[in-house]
Amino acid sequence: MELTFAGAAREVTGSCHLVRVNGRTIALDCGMFQGRRAEAQVKNRTLPLPIAELDGVVLSHAHIDHAGRLPLLVREGYSKTIWATPATRDLAAYMLMDSAHIQEKDAEFLERRQKAHAEPLYNSRDAARVIEQMVGVPYHRPFDVVPGVRASFVDAGHILGSASVVLDCKDGDATRRLVFSADIGRSGLSIIRDPEFPTAADVLIMESTYGDRDHAVIDDARARLGAVVRETAARGGRVLVPAFAVGRTQELVYDLHTLARSGDVPRIPIFIDSPLAIDATSVFELHPDIFDSTEDLVQRVHQLFRFELVRYTRDANESKALNALRGPMVIIAGSGMVESGRILHHLAHGAADPRNTILIVGFQAEHTLGRRIVERRETIKVFGEEIPLRAQVEVLNGYSAHADRRELLAWAEAVRSTSPQLARVYLVHGEPPAQSGLMELLRARGFDASAPALGDRVSF
Ligand SMILES: [Zn+2]
Repeated sequence: MELTFAGAAREVTGSCHLVRVNGRTIALDCGMFQGRRAEAQVKNRTLPLPIAELDGVVLSHAHIDHAGRLPLLVREGYSKTIWATPATRDLAAYMLMDSAHIQEKDAEFLERRQKAHAEPLYNSRDAARVIEQMVGVPYHRPFDVVPGVRASFVDAGHILGSASVVLDCKDGDATRRLVFSADIGRSGLSIIRDPEFPTAADVLIMESTYGDRDHAVIDDARARLGAVVRETAARGGRVLVPAFAVGRTQELVYDLHTLARSGDVPRIPIFIDSPLAIDATSVFELHPDIFDSTEDLVQRVHQLFRFELVRYTRDANESKALNALRGPMVIIAGSGMVESGRILHHLAHGAADPRNTILIVGFQAEHTLGRRIVERRETIKVFGEEIPLRAQVEVLNGYSAHADRRELLAWAEAVRSTSPQLARVYLVHGEPPAQSGLMELLRARGFDASAPALGDRVSF
């Protein structure tokens, strides 16, 4: 039995690991590489293995850095099953279609600039075929991926439908349980359940995104969100929130709903101004069975995302019309790192007004407009124009969907507590400093941990 690290090795994107058992190969995830454009493009166009050798795909969750290259697999001829939880399948339907549109637009842009034909990585037809090939399997229901490999999903608590993957592999007389953590969530998120701990692992592939830092406490985030909305409304300003369409937006709406019911925010309109966020919210509404049933609002309210203050603006003209409205309001719009999407026109209109607040709730990578806002630059460039940044800038770190260092360690310890035979821990999905941080901590606690490089192959 053999394991090859074909992506997210010493970096956080391009998640893909190949498992070879009994002469068959399955892929865990097939994610998009993101980052420096030219480098990412080359990596994204290179398939992890010849399509004819691939016998099955198991997808951990719908984020693009885990699912984003599935349409390329299908475009290149992969016609077998792609397994995922039902909620991941439903989310992926929207997210892959959105990703395909971005690929198509990028290719058009290149074509205009280079005045030569540019082929998109894949198109919306490829994305639609991925969904046709996807089979949804609920948590804790084992299924055979290929002869000799039985899989099951356990809740990773990261985004709706996210799973850690447990693979029971049998080759001749040898049996091994391989556990792939995928992205591990945080305890205490409002809608998503806390991560579960897989049991009886022999080998662990584990994420390490925040292996070198700890987050703020989640409860503080909701209280601070309330304070930001109250203070901004008192100034007569707008709260502008760049947010990822899946997960972050729904957590914010849930928390604003909670705050509105307890009278902790004024009765001002809340606009969800993102078609993808609206679609993702509809997927949430299809899967209440996997919400965290210990949460107060989940227990008491059927319509978590629809209440009298919240308005969903799908249409682009409706979105533009928000500029003409007066009085305080909250606007949640994509993209999460302020690189594209409707948040741009809201910033062009509102960044210079000191009554407004730009509320940052997610990680802002280097070289993004979101990062320049966090750094409170004097001006920001939107649509090619320098705009003075006079709005208040508030940063809430409590909304991360990723376990921090402390939670990653606790997860590894919990898995080990039921895994006396645990041999190796392979760290993936982390920048080198984060991986080193977590590796040191794990080794100090007696784990045999390492961080494989791209292309590394190991027996297990
Ligand atoms: Zn993720």
